[in-house]
Amino acid sequence: MDIRIDEVPLAERRPKPTDESALGFGKIFSDHMFTMRWKPDKGWHDAVISKYGPIPMAPASLVLHYGQTIFEGLKAYRAKDDAINLFRPYKNFERMNASAKRLDMPPVDVEVTMQAVRTLIGLDHEWVPRSKGTSLYIRPFMFGAEPYVGLKSSSDVMMIIIIGPVGAYYPEGFNPVSLQVCEKYSRAGPGGLGAVKTAANYAASLLAEKEAKQAGYTQVLWLDAAQRKFLEEVGSMNILLKIDGKLITPALGGTILSGVTRDSVLQLAKSWGIGVEERAIAIDEVLAAHKSGKLEEMFGAGTAAVISPVATMNYKGQDYKVGSGKTGPLAQRLFDELTGIQYGLRPDPFNWIYQVRAPQKKTKTPMPSSAAV
Ligand SMILES: *Cc1c(COP(=O)(O)O)cnc(C)c1O
Repeated sequence: MDIRIDEVPLAERRPKPTDESALGFGKIFSDHMFTMRWKPDKGWHDAVISKYGPIPMAPASLVLHYGQTIFEGLKAYRAKDDAINLFRPYKNFERMNASAKRLDMPPVDVEVTMQAVRTLIGLDHEWVPRSKGTSLYIRPFMFGAEPYVGLKSSSDVMMIIIIGPVGAYYPEGFNPVSLQVCEKYSRAGPGGLGAVKTAANYAASLLAEKEAKQAGYTQVLWLDAAQRKFLEEVGSMNILLKIDGKLITPALGGTILSGVTRDSVLQLAKSWGIGVEERAIAIDEVLAAHKSGKLEEMFGAGTAAVISPVATMNYKGQDYKVGSGKTGPLAQRLFDELTGIQYGLRPDPFNWIYQVRAPQKKTKTPMPSSAAV
């Protein structure tokens, strides 16, 4: 399938943010976006890169009523000599197709979406920020656009990719978080949508996150819906623990998301000779490990934060300090290694990097010391 390119005239391009320390997350978007459409008789068609802006949508669009929508999230990193790196992007588009299947939407041709990302970033490469820890966030998503308020799978599906600069998650170094184990709500049940990046999961988490914040905690630690006994995820990240020297994380059983960061962390840890276990982790096991002094580390893993160390865990009204209450050495090592690979500052033994823009021979802007993480 050919992608039509309606390039935004230079005079209409918006100014790039000048203060990269104030980028934040998810508020600024580049000049272009990618859209394509699917109908049962035509398949995917009308693939076009055009000006970022509002899209026409009927108030009756199925997605607005029944939530038939999925998304992905990945980043582009500015590397040495202004090369631009993606990190395992095929994993995201393969996961998008798995999500599409569960929400009864059509799969995309992964090569078409990769071409779309390459072309978008080619046009908007100046939007990839330069300061340390910053990146370009890539948000592909798909939804049922058919105007119909009866419940059914949409026969008109739209896929869009928008991109925009995002700030450093830890501008002043690691900031360990506090978690509250959620006992009132569930994120996902067996046979539900927990393994899928779909809006419903995040909508269901909003009130729980708000109540945890009101109680003074940064994020929710989710337990399984059936028994409220086993760890599942933290906020919208996968959770990992270091107990008695081993790295342990909940197994992918259909209620948690198969994170690209989670998988990368497990591969790195194994390559370093660390014992890795993917299995059910009871909250009682965590409390017992805490009691015996073997709860060494706990951290979240996801594209946005990479690694998010946990300092405190609250369960049934009691606070438990994790390890020393500071960022542990394994969390730090994983963060350094992953970001080192992403920004092209360390070797890439697993071939995780996909370069979307080659290094430029003459750097007009001096290489920022900033790219060093
Ligand atoms: C996106 C997401 C993750 C992390 O996945 P990555 O591929 O590592 O970014 C984990 N849990 C949930 C619920 C998510 O939505």
